[in-house]
Amino acid sequence: MRYQETRAVVLGSRPLGEADRIIVLFARELGRVDAVVKGVRRTKSRWGGRLEPFNICDLVLFQGRSLFTVTQAQLVAVFPRLREDRAALGVAAVACEATAGLFAEHEPHERVYNLLRSALREADAGVAGPAIRAPLLVGVVVKLLHEAGYLPVLDRCASCGGSGLALAFSAARGGLVCERCLAEGVPITPEAIEDLRQSVERPLAELRELPAAEHVEEALKHVHNLYSYHTGGRLKALRFARG
Ligand SMILES: [Zn+2]
Repeated sequence: MRYQETRAVVLGSRPLGEADRIIVLFARELGRVDAVVKGVRRTKSRWGGRLEPFNICDLVLFQGRSLFTVTQAQLVAVFPRLREDRAALGVAAVACEATAGLFAEHEPHERVYNLLRSALREADAGVAGPAIRAPLLVGVVVKLLHEAGYLPVLDRCASCGGSGLALAFSAARGGLVCERCLAEGVPITPEAIEDLRQSVERPLAELRELPAAEHVEEALKHVHNLYSYHTGGRLKALRFARG
């Protein structure tokens, strides 16, 4: 048993008993971990709003036999727009849910921590919505998939390896498929293919500046299928992104 200092993004939380909560964290030094916060649901909780989702905190965690308990929390960053702007909330909520879904517990992954922090910062800077059509959201999910080892194949047919024209996207094959392998995928438009390329190549700050568009929603649908193929789950937070 010991104490551990870490900087973490709060991804979400669930109630525990009468007064406590379990918060889901993505910690720079620890990866994804759960931690108990005692007394946080009491009206006069000493924690205030510090441990709310999307906040970044410096924490001291006590490592018990099976669970961490938060013993100290200092707020490092809060992103106010995520609580008042639906498009910004949509991006942040999907980013946090996808991070929790893609990465195993107790695997430190500093690049993912940095990516998540950038995603929250960019969302907080304002998103031309609805989020489901925002290039930033596709970019966040594609970059998280990349870190998890599931970068979509966009430069050749993901099924036969050929260089034929891409006409469909296959989540099971992991990317674009050619005319010959069409039956394995779902049809995709050239505009959505371009959105996927941009989401790989351009940084989040640039993606945020691109306008919302219908073909971006189509690109997101394919990326979501890829996410589901690998995690077995759907992103519930997309309901906030529909705007
Ligand atoms: Zn093919």
